[in-house]
Amino acid sequence: MDPVQDVLIIGGGIAGLSLASALAERRGSGAGIVLAEAEPALAHHTSGRSAEQLIPSYGPAPVRELTAATVAGLLDPSPAPPRPLAWPSRMVLVGTAAGLRAEAVPGLRQLSRPALVELCPELASSPPEEVAGGLLDDTSVRTDAGALVAWHRARAAAAGVRILTGAPVTAAAPDGEGWRAAVGGQEVRVRRVVVAAGAWADEVAGRFGAAPLGLRPLRRTAALVRLAKPLAPDHPMVVAADSGWYYRRAGDGALVSPSEAVPSEPCDAQPVREDVEDLVARLNTVTSLGATGIERAWTGLRTESPDGVPVCGFDPEVPGLLWLAGQSGYGFQTSTAMARAAADLLGDGAVGPWCSRETAAALDPVRFRTEQPLS
Ligand SMILES: Cc1cc2nc3c(=O)[nH]c(=O)nc-3n(C[C@H](O)[C@H](O)[C@H](O)COP(=O)(O)OP(=O)(O)OC[C@H]3O[C@@H](n4cnc5c(N)ncnc54)[C@H](O)[C@@H]3O)c2cc1C
Repeated sequence: MDPVQDVLIIGGGIAGLSLASALAERRGSGAGIVLAEAEPALAHHTSGRSAEQLIPSYGPAPVRELTAATVAGLLDPSPAPPRPLAWPSRMVLVGTAAGLRAEAVPGLRQLSRPALVELCPELASSPPEEVAGGLLDDTSVRTDAGALVAWHRARAAAAGVRILTGAPVTAAAPDGEGWRAAVGGQEVRVRRVVVAAGAWADEVAGRFGAAPLGLRPLRRTAALVRLAKPLAPDHPMVVAADSGWYYRRAGDGALVSPSEAVPSEPCDAQPVREDVEDLVARLNTVTSLGATGIERAWTGLRTESPDGVPVCGFDPEVPGLLWLAGQSGYGFQTSTAMARAAADLLGDGAVGPWCSRETAAALDPVRFRTEQPLS
C-alpha cells in the first residue's frame, strides 16, 4: 500500500460497497481506495437482512428520485452481470380510504376494492373498513441483495480497491490534512474518510472528530412463513398503508414483516419470536393466506436520520469526512444513485444527472449543523 491512501470507506454493507465500485469506475482505477469492514464477512448486518424490494413510489421526494435512478441502472447494468440484479415485481399498498389518501404520490394507480381483490384474492375476506382499496406501483422491482453485493465487490476489487474484512476501524488521530486510522490492527494513513457504517455511523464519525447527526437505529424483522396454498408467481407485494405489515411471495411460502420500528443500540439485532407469531395471527385474520408456520426469522437495524432523509455529503465541521448514512428502509433502492453522488462529491464536487441539485441539498449533512434562529 502507498504510505497515504486517498479514501478510506468504513463499512462493507451496500452503501460502502456501491460507493467503492462507483468511485473506482469514476476514476478508472481503485488505487488509493481502501474499504474496511469490521465483520469477517461483507453485508453481515442490515444489508444481509433486507426485503430486497425497490419501490419508486416509497419514501420522501429525494428518496423517490434516487430510487428511480437506481432502478433504471439496476435493470440495465453495464457491463451485464452473471446474474440479473433486478426484475419487475409489483407492489400494492392497501388500507383505509384515509390511509391511502395520505400515501398517494405520482406513479401509484388507484384500485377499487373489487379491482384489488381480483389482483389479490386472499384479501376478499378482509374487513372492508380496513381494506377499502389499493394503490398499485407497477414500476417496483425486486433485487437480489447477494448478487448485488457480489457484483459491487467484484467490480471494486478488479479495479484495485483494497477490501479489508475483519478490520474494524477502532481509532483515528489527525495527521496533516488527514488521519492515521487503526484498521483491524494495522495503521492506515488517509486523506479522506467515508462513514458508511450503518447503525454505527455516529459512533464511527466521532472517532474522526465529527459531532453525531442524531442517527437512530430502528429494529425491523422479516420472516419466511409457510402457506397453505402458494401465491401466484406474479402476485404483487402487499403492504399495509398504516405500516402494520407486509407480505410477498417467496417460493411456496411468503416473506412477511410486522414493519416494526423499535429503537435499538447499534448491535447484531435479533428477532423477537412473539412479534412474528403475532404477525402471523394478524395476517390470518385479515387475509386468507393461511400462514401455517415460521421457517426463519431475522432482524436488522434501519438507521434513520432526524428528518428521515438519508445523508450524503461532507461534514461542514470536519473537512475530508463524508457521511453516507441514514438510509433507513431505502438503502438498496437508493444505493446506485447515492453512491454515484458520493463519488462525484469525492471527485470534482459536481453531482451528476443521477441526483438533482435539490436532492443533493436535501442529502447534505449541513442541514443538521445550521443553528436555528431563536424565536
Ligand atoms: C427487515 C428489513 C427489510 C428491509 N427491506 C428493504 C428493502 O426492501 N429495500 C431497501 O432499499 N432497503 C431495505 N431495508 C433497508 C436496507 O437494508 C438498509 O438501508 C441498508 O442495508 C443499509 O446499508 P448500509 O451499508 O448503510 O448498512 P449496513 O449493511 O449495516 O453496513 C454497515 C457496515 O458497517 C460496518 N461497520 C460498523 N462499524 C464499523 C467500524 N468501526 N469499522 C468497520 N466497519 C464498521 C458494519 O459491520 C456493517 O457491515 C430493509 C432493512 C430491514 C432491516
